[in-house]
Amino acid sequence: MAHYNYLIAGGGMTAAAAAHSIREVDAPGAIAVIGAEPDPPYNRPPLSKGLWKGEAEETIWRNPDLVGVTLHLGRRVVSLDPRGKRLSDDRGTMHTFDRLLLATGGTPRRLPFESDKIIYFRTLADYRRLRTLAAQSHRFAVVGGGFIGSEVAAALRMQGCDVVMLVPETGLGARVFPGELSRFVAEYYREKGVDVRTGEGMAGLEQRGEATVVRTTTQKEFTADVVVAGLGIQPNVELAEQAGLQVENGVVVDQHCRSSHPSIFAAGDVANFHNPALDTRMRVEHEDNANTMGKVAGENMAGQATPYDHLPSFYSDLFELGYEAVGDLDVRQETFADWKEPFREGVIYYLKGGRVRGVLLWNTFGHVDAARALIAQPGPFNAGALKGRI
Ligand SMILES: Cc1cc2nc3c(=O)[nH]c(=O)nc-3n(C[C@H](O)[C@H](O)[C@H](O)COP(=O)(O)OP(=O)(O)OC[C@H]3O[C@@H](n4cnc5c(N)ncnc54)[C@H](O)[C@@H]3O)c2cc1C
Repeated sequence: MAHYNYLIAGGGMTAAAAAHSIREVDAPGAIAVIGAEPDPPYNRPPLSKGLWKGEAEETIWRNPDLVGVTLHLGRRVVSLDPRGKRLSDDRGTMHTFDRLLLATGGTPRRLPFESDKIIYFRTLADYRRLRTLAAQSHRFAVVGGGFIGSEVAAALRMQGCDVVMLVPETGLGARVFPGELSRFVAEYYREKGVDVRTGEGMAGLEQRGEATVVRTTTQKEFTADVVVAGLGIQPNVELAEQAGLQVENGVVVDQHCRSSHPSIFAAGDVANFHNPALDTRMRVEHEDNANTMGKVAGENMAGQATPYDHLPSFYSDLFELGYEAVGDLDVRQETFADWKEPFREGVIYYLKGGRVRGVLLWNTFGHVDAARALIAQPGPFNAGALKGRI
């Protein structure tokens, strides 16, 4: 049994950011990361972007071991005893801690059928498997038109693969992009050679001899060598629940990333925090949040009292189109599009009660801070006041 001043459950980007910031505040403290994946922490976004465009795999590593962090990899934390401040992993090893960070992220939602032809794309191992298959197989079904589905479909198509996308909504990115833009992106993907089937989901998967047949919700069928599912994630809250921590769409934390137990913190995809600019609780599944919240959580674990008041941004690439965004992009809000060139370059504002709550910077880069500043203003704003604002 080893004792650590700082123990981190989960070995992703949040864990890496926290390990670095703990080390900056506490030079001698003993820090360990227990991560279920066999690989040390790495950046996930390149798995569906840069690595498909020639970026080298070596560029993704985060290297927390360089600052004296012990890495226990390929191990899953299976039980947490908050009173005894100890946890055990799936090899039966017990670890004790002064402070614990839950950085367990999320697990992809699954389809209701089992098949080894389905890849739930999340990890470096998934990327390597898909990359190998993309070099061998030529027909892929991508289920889901959100971030992962859209990026993976583009990556596969750019390798020359045949790609059918099953998207139950009327367009791509339908939860985030206003209807017209979402339908434009679907059409843009079709022009790129992706067979985008909107209004159609996956209903079943059958092996017929050598052929894998995908059945759809509109009673159609097609064959595919591999199915990639991008159906979103569920936060890995089991340990927190087992430990009796407050959990509500993620591990509930205060402004210092502390859970309902004073020695246990949570950050990244698994954490539910209050954002002052939007005055709402949120759980964010994006890189900026993982890095910034992980850093703040680490500082606070090491004794500082830094509030996490950052409004996270995110970004994506869709073939040659790309965007940055900040705030709440729930498309059920009122939206105002300020196009320089329709669907090619512009800014979309998401408003509620006259306040800007989210900004989508479509092929418009370097304005995230200006968007944040706008969200911080009380308004009220109308379309006239927003035109040309960014
Ligand atoms: C392919 C892909 C592309 C992305 N692209 C973008 C992008 O372009 N822009 C953007 O903003 N965001 C992007 N994201 C999202 C971003 O990567 C995530 O928000 C970020 O990885 C979250 O980091 P995390 O460390 O909180 O959680 P995770 O990345 O989920 O890491 C958690 C780690 O903890 C491990 N773990 C879980 N439970 C246990 C346990 N009990 N014991 C031990 N280990 C455990 C998991 O195996 C995992 O390794 C992308 C995500 C993916 C998958």
